[in-house]
Amino acid sequence: MAKKTVADIDVKGKRVLMRVDFNVPQDDDGKITSDDRIVKALPTIKHVLDHGGSLILMSHLGRPEGARDDAYTLKPVAQRLSELLKKPVVFANDTIGPDAKAKAKALKGGDVLLLENLRFNKEEVIKDKDAKDKPDLRTAKDNFAKELAAMADVYVDDAFGTAHRDNASMLTVPAVMQGKPRVIGFLIEKELKFLGDTINKPVRPFVAILGGAKVSDKIGVIESLINKVNRIIIGGAMAYTFLKSRGKAIGDSRCEDNFVDKAAALLNRATELNCEVLLPPDHAVVRKLAAGAEHRILVGDIDPGWQAVDIGPMAAKEFTAKILDAKTIVWNGPMGVFEIPPFDKGTKAVAQAVAKATGKGAKSIVGGGDSASAIEQLGLQDKISHISTGGGASLEFLEGKKFKAIDILDEK
Ligand code: ADP
Ligand code: MG
Repeated sequence: MAKKTVADIDVKGKRVLMRVDFNVPQDDDGKITSDDRIVKALPTIKHVLDHGGSLILMSHLGRPEGARDDAYTLKPVAQRLSELLKKPVVFANDTIGPDAKAKAKALKGGDVLLLENLRFNKEEVIKDKDAKDKPDLRTAKDNFAKELAAMADVYVDDAFGTAHRDNASMLTVPAVMQGKPRVIGFLIEKELKFLGDTINKPVRPFVAILGGAKVSDKIGVIESLINKVNRIIIGGAMAYTFLKSRGKAIGDSRCEDNFVDKAAALLNRATELNCEVLLPPDHAVVRKLAAGAEHRILVGDIDPGWQAVDIGPMAAKEFTAKILDAKTIVWNGPMGVFEIPPFDKGTKAVAQAVAKATGKGAKSIVGGGDSASAIEQLGLQDKISHISTGGGASLEFLEGKKFKAIDILDEK
């Protein structure tokens, strides 16, 4: 069933507590290097303001240790949001303290308040499973959520990036606001629609491209996707655990030895399900990974002392051909160490193939933080149907996991 969105409720004269993902990247001086996450929250923010509501925005930023740490203040975000909205944004120096409460109380229709970093309060990240046998943790988390909830009449969740977590602001706050409107924003609506439709109603051939650092991070996704896709293309460091499971020599390439058996089982299962699996036939290898490191292209087995850092040109060609005839594409994880050219070649080739297939009518989804930044680095973001804003969240969605923080919200 579909979830109610902020467009389905009346916000006029109401105080709207909205969880957003303002976890923006910053440089060493605290300067915001990409305001993409703020920009993506604007449609929901503007909707509330244009309809006469006032907003109390809350987010986390980085990983402070559960106490005030000025390196992680949301103050620069308030400033940037104000520039984007072309109106003042009030900033509270605390999250549930006297400043936040006074400023929330003073809000009038059309006003915007941003609370200080949720993670300055250790209660935000208490996990429900840890609080299960510890009543003091449970009470602390509930009390924190109640203080936030008491500031508002309506709850809106538009933070897809944290939707898979049971943080206080994501799950406990809507739980204690039962009886009041609790809805999703437009960003989450779009993510659910894109990811959901793609996985559940794919036009075939449906191709998954998986890469990145670790098999162990993505086992669940692979397990789930082999049941759904026609073809899986595997590159990146994780390919070497799979190649080893097929008895290939992988030299000093990254490998998770305790996952070799699991990888073999997944390959067998894929064969049973008639899901084609492609592994790289050749590789760019180095002795030691560094910018400008001497590298060789090897076909097949990799010699000891050499480490694969990218798929080779044959792999790039083969993968490209297998992407171009797809009608639905899901991509997570780069094909190599794309941060260090020339080991971005494989990722580039695959990105260009996905863009080209999309141009010919395929639906393409890219999830994962590094994959999304690879696409942006290549300037291809407008040639992909959907770039998910949730790294971990989009992966868990592809695994078919349920999100409690979204389940708890109102249905249409
Ligand atoms: P995403 O964030 O898109 O889910 P991951 O975090 O799983 O992707 O993986 C990205 C990382 O994997 C990158 O930092 C990249 O350098 C690394 N990587 C990819 N291929 C290799 C390889 N062959 N050897 C070592 N690291 C690799
Ligand atoms: Mg990553």
